[in-house]
Amino acid sequence: MTLQTKSLKAKESIWANPTKQLEFLAAGAFQDGQLPTFAQKLHSIGRAPLKPSNLEIFQVNLGKMCNQVCAHCHVDAGPDRKEIMTQETMEIILSKIAASGAHTLDLTGGAPEMNPHFRWFVEEAAKLGVKDFIVRCNLTIILANKKYHDLPEFFAKHNVHVVSSLPYYKPEKTDKQRGEGVFSKSIEALKMLNAVGYGKPDTNLKLDLVYNPSGAFLPSDQGGLERDFKKSLFEEHGIVFNSLFAITNIPISRFLDYLVASDNYEDYMDLLVSSFNSAAVDGVMCRNTLSVGWDGQLYDCDFNQMLDLSLQQGIGHISNFDLNTWNNRNIIVSQHCYGCTAGAGSSCQGTVA
Ligand code: SF4
Ligand code: SF4
Repeated sequence: MTLQTKSLKAKESIWANPTKQLEFLAAGAFQDGQLPTFAQKLHSIGRAPLKPSNLEIFQVNLGKMCNQVCAHCHVDAGPDRKEIMTQETMEIILSKIAASGAHTLDLTGGAPEMNPHFRWFVEEAAKLGVKDFIVRCNLTIILANKKYHDLPEFFAKHNVHVVSSLPYYKPEKTDKQRGEGVFSKSIEALKMLNAVGYGKPDTNLKLDLVYNPSGAFLPSDQGGLERDFKKSLFEEHGIVFNSLFAITNIPISRFLDYLVASDNYEDYMDLLVSSFNSAAVDGVMCRNTLSVGWDGQLYDCDFNQMLDLSLQQGIGHISNFDLNTWNNRNIIVSQHCYGCTAGAGSSCQGTVA
């Protein structure tokens, strides 16, 4: 993957257009019947239409603005993205999560900390007492500006569960995927998080890392990767963390751009389809998660959000959220869903099968 400096949107790439992505994912081997569509695959194992389980997680995108422009980013985030959630939308979310029974609030972006109402939202959400309160922190944001230097203390004060991407435990692969110098800044940020207690066995402050492959292949065994990350990060940098989540790159947005530009698209889709694991279907995150976009629109998952595939049955905006309608909907699927069911499966919490 090559380094990016601008979002696909700023470059006016066709892959910034969700309709074009969906048309492309429906064409080729899926259109001429060489490969089954994801809906056909579900049908063949008696799982169509895909239905939800219990609502457990509100995953909220606070905006597409980010201090990084990672090569694989499915959000197409970056400094040039201005979409940001308003405080009014956050207030509605807080009122809905309290009544929904969901036990986890998962804040993502972009860099969620760049939203001007981020700290207010965390403080208010912490008062709700959700069981698990996740912030997806890209690590480098902590060092990006003086105003973010105290984020580790702020997270610790509100018992935030920090989940951070680190593509590898060596600089080369990390910098290639996330930008020049990102590895060394990430190491510094991890040390700051450790210093306030994150990842330490004698605290409740959870620090998890996320690994994703650097190219058109599936992640290897999550347990083995976790052991390698723990050994290397501790021996070389004195860093500790709790768990490693290994996730599969979903063929949308910048990763789709990479697959097409590098002539890897067909082989990657073949790999995802041939690695389909029916046991992973139960654990796909759309079954227990409500995904909320920066403008309050609702989706089955973060990937459907980026493809503009709105939640079925016209719930539309968070202000209209209704648990009964959510429970009875059919989940919208397309060929990108094969990324969630390949091999050991993939979700925001790593492997699922
Ligand atoms: S840090 Fe995350 S949101 Fe930002 S560009 Fe990288 S992958 Fe995207
Ligand atoms: S991409 Fe989204 S809708 Fe498709 S299986 Fe994965 S979580 Fe579910």
